[in-house]
Amino acid sequence: MAKKLHIKTYGCQMNVYDSERIAEVLGPIGFELSDTPDDADMVILNTCHIRERAAEKVFSELGRLRGKKAEKESGGGRMILGVTGCVAQAQGEEVTRRAPYVDMVFGPQTYHRLPEMVARAAREHGHVLDIDFPEDSKFDSLPPARNVSGAAAFLAVQEGCDKFCTYCVVPYTRGAEYSRPPEGVVAEARILVDAGAKEITLLGQNVNAYHGEAADGSEWNLARLIRDVAEIDGLERIRYTTSYPAEINDDLITAHAEVAKLMPYLHLPIQSGSDAVLNAMNRQHTVDAFKDVVQKLRAARPDLSLSSDFIVGFPGETDADFEATLKLVEDVTFIQAYSFKYSSRPGTPAALMDGQIPEAVKAERLARLQALLDTQSLDFNLRAVGQVLPVLLDRTGKHTGQLIGRSPYMQAVVVDAPEALLHTIQNVTITQAGPNSLMGELAGGGQRACA
Ligand code: SAM
Ligand code: SF4
Repeated sequence: MAKKLHIKTYGCQMNVYDSERIAEVLGPIGFELSDTPDDADMVILNTCHIRERAAEKVFSELGRLRGKKAEKESGGGRMILGVTGCVAQAQGEEVTRRAPYVDMVFGPQTYHRLPEMVARAAREHGHVLDIDFPEDSKFDSLPPARNVSGAAAFLAVQEGCDKFCTYCVVPYTRGAEYSRPPEGVVAEARILVDAGAKEITLLGQNVNAYHGEAADGSEWNLARLIRDVAEIDGLERIRYTTSYPAEINDDLITAHAEVAKLMPYLHLPIQSGSDAVLNAMNRQHTVDAFKDVVQKLRAARPDLSLSSDFIVGFPGETDADFEATLKLVEDVTFIQAYSFKYSSRPGTPAALMDGQIPEAVKAERLARLQALLDTQSLDFNLRAVGQVLPVLLDRTGKHTGQLIGRSPYMQAVVVDAPEALLHTIQNVTITQAGPNSLMGELAGGGQRACA
């Protein structure tokens, strides 16, 4: 009988991808995914270390799981508890110290070795700690088969980061930039499409720094990779995330003009609208350089819409710096955005900077920024009312008879539609708009490729 595996995923899309791959590594040794940790034979927390609160959540969840594990073991069973992701990488020793009942702690670069780790954890009581940065890439050892649960799939093409923004833990938790060879990426994209994917999002911590070396020694950039993936029949939509503004090159801008499958939506984090703050953050772009890239992208693809990331209350951020961020948002306009209060991370240069900003100031700035960003999202969504948008219906809604999907611009669209249309692209007339989603009606003429 299959053993039950529960994986709880925190944080970014890369973690979602890693969790899928972890399940695929554990499938052949008898583990089947379960929605609940109750009675599971293995529970894995795939963690995020980006902000303090994200990391602390892991320790509270471990506290809850401790009881479930004890209960199972008092009945003669066994629950193997694993922690992976960036908390495991950054605080592996601390996890084993604060939660000694955890059986396996492994970093995001070592999960291809899980069968070995599980065998050790089952044999021995004590921890298995594997937080190496191995020389060989995990991608060479992962099973080729992919499970696709919906019509939209993630595909990791690049990992790690060499940018060392002064607030960020990623270069330490994910290691140096690494690009997968293009042949492996394209082969995985084909497998995903054969398994039912209609949309693929190419993932990387700095995805546009992609420079994969092909078997013939040539180096492919992200634009070339996108063009090749776009050749796959049956694939309708391509996205990529997360991009670093200073590495958007002309090839990529041209790809936005020429590759119809590349969706007109781009997540392009700027972090701040003040050059002084960007400089203190060690971002390699100025506000003007960001605006220049945006202007070129919009010239190439006039309907391109943007989202971004913002940090408020970075050490030394003055009222004037913050006002400059509001001005940037007004000038550029974003249809969606993620904004955060600066969170001090141990080991990063910004944690030691003078001028740390009080929480109350951060909270007030965040509220003002979010209010402005919300108006921009709502405006954009309201402009969709009356339009017909192609929507990739990829999950069932809250109410019976409802499906939810994504427009080309990543808006969530709720539609009354039969379940037979799940995982298809349908034309939808937008009837209502809110800040976070749209409502619509089937317009007929479905299964078309997107605008
Ligand atoms: N590579 C991307 C880039 O260049 O912006 C971002 C990846 S990071 C995992 C996602 C977002 O988390 C960042 O864009 C930033 O806004 C936010 N972030 C990272 N470190 C943070 C910190 N210490 N405090 C608050 N937000 C943080
Ligand atoms: Fe973090 Fe900066 Fe690298 Fe993005 S570019 S992952 S924010 S260090």
